[in-house]
Amino acid sequence: MLVYLDNSATTRQYDEVTETMMRAMENYYGNPSSLHTLGYESEKIVKNARRIIARSLGASDDEIIFTSCGTESDNTALYGIAHSRRRQGNKIITSRVEHPAVLEACKVLEKEGFQVEYIGVDSKCRLDMDALQAAIDENTILVSVMNVNNETGTIMPITEISKIKKNAVLHTDAVQGYGKVDLKNCRADMISVSAHKIHGPKGMGALYVRKGINLPAYLSGGGQERGYRSGTENVPGIVGFGKAVELAFGDFQGRVSAMGKARKYLLDGICDGIKDVIINSPEDGAASVLNVSFLGTRGEVLLHTLEQDRIFVSTGSACSSNKKGKGQSHVLTAMGLKPKEIEGAIRFSFSEFNTVKEMDYVLDRLESAVSRFRRLGSFR
Ligand code: PLP
Repeated sequence: MLVYLDNSATTRQYDEVTETMMRAMENYYGNPSSLHTLGYESEKIVKNARRIIARSLGASDDEIIFTSCGTESDNTALYGIAHSRRRQGNKIITSRVEHPAVLEACKVLEKEGFQVEYIGVDSKCRLDMDALQAAIDENTILVSVMNVNNETGTIMPITEISKIKKNAVLHTDAVQGYGKVDLKNCRADMISVSAHKIHGPKGMGALYVRKGINLPAYLSGGGQERGYRSGTENVPGIVGFGKAVELAFGDFQGRVSAMGKARKYLLDGICDGIKDVIINSPEDGAASVLNVSFLGTRGEVLLHTLEQDRIFVSTGSACSSNKKGKGQSHVLTAMGLKPKEIEGAIRFSFSEFNTVKEMDYVLDRLESAVSRFRRLGSFR
């Protein structure tokens, strides 16, 4: 049995997405900007995908910009707003638990002279809303807070933030929340999403930009994407993304409840069967993530032990963690966990394909891996 529990790192592409992309590569090779029929046909399928993605966010078609990934969507939002609103103010507010796609961009902006304030979180990764409210002032041009944290699944109060943001533009990195929590009424001005987290192709993202938000061109050239991002469109990637969204949102509730069922079963099993654990995810977190510290173990060793039984998990965020395992999770550190608690942390992340039967197998292998490690390390 192969059990894939690293869906926050990336998901297995839906077969229908692969088929749609193959068809696009074979038949829709015309450039969407060309005036002839082949160009027109490519343009038509790109338009259709844009509409599907716009609807999933409660947006109109001309509020969607296609990008090459979630990272590009985040960078476009942060650099774009900072540079276009420089005259209105100098302050940017974000959280300490953002993905590096936001945190690293903030560091660059700090070097350019912007003042960035990093808001803290509690032990379940919940944002300190009092600190956020106190930080927002007339000089604040941008607030960027993620919608769902990638290491813990904590859902951030974006709608609440929209009510206190004053004149700032509110951006949310919804790479982990898209397809798992409803974003239609979240009231953010800009939303970053990525296709590969919802069984779409890798290397495809989108940025929702609410009408009226002024954004400078990110890539200059032929004027595609309404001039924001020039470059010939990635037609197969775009239609693959559209197909993934159509499928994922076609049965939104069914998918989320399947993830939730597997997650709850695993959580209950861990709490019943394994002593000395800390559940780092909040009870009301997203159905897709469960983060647990197994005290007296090392997450990295557990990961490789489980791998031998074809169970795939993660110690933190795969897309940001150092492959060599050096450096501790900035998210768990911000949550105030002790180094030993961080060291024993494992992230299980779910898709609708995970089953209770798989979780029984995971629990069995996990219990044995944890007790073996603790015996060897003479824990308690
Ligand atoms: N933001 C969050 C919260 C993520 O979890 C990730 C990837 O894991 C990204 C941004 C980056 O997305 P991409 O891999 O599409 O660049």
